[in-house]
Amino acid sequence: MDLDFTEEEKAFQQEVREFLKEKLPARLSEKVRTGKRLTKEDMEEWHAILNERGWLANHWPVEWGGTGWSVMERFIFETESAMAHAPRIVPFGISMLAPVLMKYGSEEQCRHYLPRILDGTDWWCQGYSEPGAGSDLASLKTEAVREGDHYIVNGQKTWTTLGQYADWIFCLVRTSKEGKKQEGISFLLIDMKTPGIEVRPIKLLDGDFEVNEVFFTDVKVPVENLVGEENKGWTYAKYLLSYERTNIAGVGMSMALLDQLKEAAQTTIRNGKPLADDPFFAQRVAKLEIDLENMKTTNLRVLDAAGAGHTPMAESSMLKIRGTEIRQEITDLFRRAAGRYAQPFVSEALEEGFNGEPVGPEWAAPVAGAYFNNRKLSIFGGSNEVQREIITKAKLEL
Ligand SMILES: Cc1cc2nc3c(=O)[nH]c(=O)nc-3n(C[C@H](O)[C@H](O)[C@H](O)COP(=O)(O)OP(=O)(O)OC[C@H]3O[C@@H](n4cnc5c(N)ncnc54)[C@H](O)[C@@H]3O)c2cc1C
Repeated sequence: MDLDFTEEEKAFQQEVREFLKEKLPARLSEKVRTGKRLTKEDMEEWHAILNERGWLANHWPVEWGGTGWSVMERFIFETESAMAHAPRIVPFGISMLAPVLMKYGSEEQCRHYLPRILDGTDWWCQGYSEPGAGSDLASLKTEAVREGDHYIVNGQKTWTTLGQYADWIFCLVRTSKEGKKQEGISFLLIDMKTPGIEVRPIKLLDGDFEVNEVFFTDVKVPVENLVGEENKGWTYAKYLLSYERTNIAGVGMSMALLDQLKEAAQTTIRNGKPLADDPFFAQRVAKLEIDLENMKTTNLRVLDAAGAGHTPMAESSMLKIRGTEIRQEITDLFRRAAGRYAQPFVSEALEEGFNGEPVGPEWAAPVAGAYFNNRKLSIFGGSNEVQREIITKAKLEL
């Protein structure tokens, strides 16, 4: 199999590079490169620039305002964007809800919600997990009881990423307790401004607030906000999850981080010589580089097969596991490179415009936070243990 880019793909790669050079604001790429906190406005600014070029929803079909790009073109775009330190596209509306609406929603729902996702009118968050329903998602208890032309929703969601910014939440709710637990779940779209919704932040290991608990008390949701059929939500939920895991390998992001790590190791002096020359450190970096190169090849093979119509199943799980392990290894090596400078956590140093005295080298400021934050990678999007079970069943037939 030839995994080199075709002439057309090389021309496309060049087009993406030129676009990024011209349109990616230096302020934003500098924030991403130096591990500063991105605000909601930063993320929206980048979305608007991409939308203007018609590249925001790059996996949507053209009829709904997407690009109709091939999987390889999307890979090129994502890799180049990461290498240029562009902010990641926030996935909830664009990459998670939209494909579900296009496949299972009504024409009216598509016409209403999709343009609002594109132009940034609605910020979405994902209401799947609950206390007691994470890996075993079908155990969810948040209940929606139909009363006339409304559902009354009661219950609690948790780990709702960036829910503090959200205008809307797509939720899995229980609409029936009969039969198998998967058969009583529905997919509801809920306006976060509806009375009875309370959002409470959860502080993570890195000291930041990016996830929330969301409580629903007698929340009235119009029945037209149901996607597809009542009690059929499990099918839609699984379809969405297949999108959630796509590109979780994050090859471009790891390539960019690895470059930065090598640079940091060159300029860090340990025992009188650059850390990059320390045999133990160099061995770990070399292993990482080989693993990343292998994962990139596997990713290209999977994308090549997907382009030919094969739906990746166990392969997505493999990429999810390796991709997240590699990113965690990079953040671990950064932490070790920083040594004792990783210990003082100066939260303000992660804000744009911080002009205090850096503790140690400038690149060390976000290192501990990134290390702790990235513990999440092997949990969310389906924990790595559960991904291993998927591979075991699909490939080993155990
Ligand atoms: C930072 C972060 C952001 C998140 N964002 C969102 C979000 O926006 N929206 C949302 O809905 N959810 C979100 N999640 C939730 C995420 O999807 C769940 O955390 C995940 O599915 C795991 O569920 P759990 O936390 O309930 O752990 P559990 O399911 O209780 O698992 C605990 C441990 O047991 C292991 N385990 C469980 N079942 C098995 C099994 N069958 N075999 C082997 N091991 C098993 C797990 O792998 C894990 O190590 C987020 C989570 C995190 C950490």
